[in-house]
Amino acid sequence: MRAGVAEAIEDAGVVGAGGAGFPTHIKARSEADIVIANYAECEPLVASDTAVITQEPERVVRGLQLMQEATRATRAVVAMKRKTEKGIQILDKFSKTEKGFTVHLLDDVYPVGDEHVLVEEVTGRVVPQGGIPLEVSAVVSNVTTLWRVALAEEGKAFTERFVTVTGEVKAPGTLLVPVGTPVSRLLTECGGATVERPVLVMGGPMMGEITQDTESPVRKTTTALIVLPQDNALVRKRSAPISVDVRRAMAACMQCSDCTLLCPRYLLGHQLFPHKTMRSVAFWVRESEAELASAMLCSECGLCGVFACPMELSPVHVYQHIKQELVRRGKVPELRREVTDPRPEREGRRIPLSRLVARLGLTAYEAKAPAKAELLEVAEVRIPLREKWGKLRATVLVGQAVRKGDLLAEPFGKQPGARAHASIDGKIESVTEEFVHVAA
Ligand code: SF4
Ligand code: SF4
Repeated sequence: MRAGVAEAIEDAGVVGAGGAGFPTHIKARSEADIVIANYAECEPLVASDTAVITQEPERVVRGLQLMQEATRATRAVVAMKRKTEKGIQILDKFSKTEKGFTVHLLDDVYPVGDEHVLVEEVTGRVVPQGGIPLEVSAVVSNVTTLWRVALAEEGKAFTERFVTVTGEVKAPGTLLVPVGTPVSRLLTECGGATVERPVLVMGGPMMGEITQDTESPVRKTTTALIVLPQDNALVRKRSAPISVDVRRAMAACMQCSDCTLLCPRYLLGHQLFPHKTMRSVAFWVRESEAELASAMLCSECGLCGVFACPMELSPVHVYQHIKQELVRRGKVPELRREVTDPRPEREGRRIPLSRLVARLGLTAYEAKAPAKAELLEVAEVRIPLREKWGKLRATVLVGQAVRKGDLLAEPFGKQPGARAHASIDGKIESVTEEFVHVAA
């Protein structure tokens, strides 16, 4: 049965749907003593996991049971914020019956859903820097992922997900949409943008990808589409090119260390010191190997850039640039796995979400984005072939008829990745390195 669960998950192409995109079958083939359902939903404005919990609680619980069974874990925990009253009611009802899991309540701070932070909150164990939760015998899966795990058991591929559409749109909502749907279709469904030349954030405002391309497709990891005006504080802070960040660092970094003192990974005891990296950048100091390697410890939570720095500098952007360069040059450093203790000041330095939302200029968009359970009808989809954890090889030809759930692409050889499937019935219009285009 254990092998059967992992195989079903692999067949269905399930990945970490909270944003990480890691193939779930790899987690299901590991062994751990605790499985944690991540319902922290810690990015501002995003309500896609809440939609899953309210619409599909039985399957979330079933997915958790399956992951517990697959990993032979002795404990299963749902970690969720204490402010999520409806979710607590729903999951409490399940936990009091025969379902065999407990609920762990979290404070409304950012980024409590970061796997390293979450594992420490729930178990008290600190994941070694540069490591993964499995190194402390924990497996973490987002609740949307667990919903898809339960559907995988029923033989259903990962073909749709909930996406919150909010910000500058007429009618915000959390829609159930086929993977590959162009964001233009989501905008139409929500009444269109209410500003000229809107900026789109695919995902949460802190970690999502900024684009103006309305044909970008919904991915398995797309939690939200946030529509913002050009002059929004978040857009201003997040969209400067790296050359501007470097110039600003030279001109304005006063080495106050606030970026380090509020960094959630630093506060877990990891050897990550963004202020030192900014000093190197500002003064053209050639980075040491250790300093370059420290970029790989950054979770890209974005706090240093959009919240901590009084000069509006962006250490996270610098770290993203260093990581891209290391990957491009094939010089990703071997990380020293180091077990650390949380720093004693950590408790007092946690950032309430409400303060973050206000700082980002997002308070006006906090209105509800109600869930709609009906699957959105779409005329075409572009199924991505390039995901965070690898590239896929198309298995279909142009002109071929496909049904929803048919296999379209799979990982190359033994490379990590997750299969991709048709999310609508239709015909293959084109196959490129990036997408398989299916039209109804
Ligand atoms: S918070 Fe800003 S000014 Fe202070 S050290 Fe970090 S980058 Fe420099
Ligand atoms: S983005 Fe900034 S605050 Fe977040 S982990 Fe990286 S360095 Fe720390």
